[in-house]
Amino acid sequence: MGNQNEILDQSIYEAVINASHDAIVIVDADSQVFFWNESAEKLFGYSSDFMVGKNMHSYITPDRHRAISHVAFKKFQESGEGRALGRMVEIEALRQDGVEIWVELSLTAFEVEGKRWAFAIIRDITEKKRLEIELQEEASTDALTGLSNRREFQRQLESHLDHPMSMAIIDIDHFKQINDGYGHLIGDEAIQMVAGCLTDMFSDAISVARLGGEEFGVLFSSDDIDLVFNFCEEFRILLSRQRFSEHDLSLTVSIGVSGYKSTARGMFYAADVALYEAKAGGRNRVCLAQRG
Ligand code: GH3
Ligand code: MG
Ligand code: MG
Repeated sequence: MGNQNEILDQSIYEAVINASHDAIVIVDADSQVFFWNESAEKLFGYSSDFMVGKNMHSYITPDRHRAISHVAFKKFQESGEGRALGRMVEIEALRQDGVEIWVELSLTAFEVEGKRWAFAIIRDITEKKRLEIELQEEASTDALTGLSNRREFQRQLESHLDHPMSMAIIDIDHFKQINDGYGHLIGDEAIQMVAGCLTDMFSDAISVARLGGEEFGVLFSSDDIDLVFNFCEEFRILLSRQRFSEHDLSLTVSIGVSGYKSTARGMFYAADVALYEAKAGGRNRVCLAQRG
């Protein structure tokens, strides 16, 4: 009877493992593969015959993660503990054809007669990850120009407050006249032209963003305000010589520059005041916010 139960246990175990759409892999504390199911064969492209006895990390861990996986497994080997144990982690893995995929890994440990094993259930989440990245990009990018949007600019500004930096707000002068005189589409072309010039000119900036309408922001990784002022002057002059649209139009911008302040709000406010001064002073100019 005992024997029959054992056979039944074995059959259930095999049925479950083989029916699983997830890859199931068992490795010892040295990362040597002991078990590799059919779904693992499909997912990674390596057969069970090939993988059993091999070091898992040498085949399915991308080069740049290999050292860290090695350290993590060493810890598991010594203490039976690990960061990934008992929870789901999302990591990058390597297929036999060299393509990198994203997988969700659920890891459990067990011990048989003093020997430690890790039991992994692995699921392909490449598509989910791709959608996530796409959505994140959509949420942080301006559709018309491909620049960062205001939210992303704000995020960057806040996360760099402990670094030296400065910012500029750039606003197209008399933009309404372009829209009213030539139509919205030409207005859009003007916005795209300015965005392109900003990207070319400030490729080293922390962030170049469209803050809204015909207003742009640049976050510089320097608090040398005279240097930033000169950059902006150079940009202003260059842009005024640029032609766009089938009507061979040109435009100018006004720019407000703020040096480092301890809050994002403070920097925005100072740059805004400086921009207002540039407009009030006749437009097509750069104004510096008061220091301090
Ligand atoms: P100022 O020199 O004072 O900046 O004058 P302005 O005409 O540029 O002033 P204002 O900022 O009031 O005008 C902005 C206009 O930009 C108003 C709005 O209709 C237009 N606008 C906002 N977003 C877009 C867009 O995506 N495309 C186009 N074509 N126009 C836009
Ligand atoms: Mg304007
Ligand atoms: Mg404006």
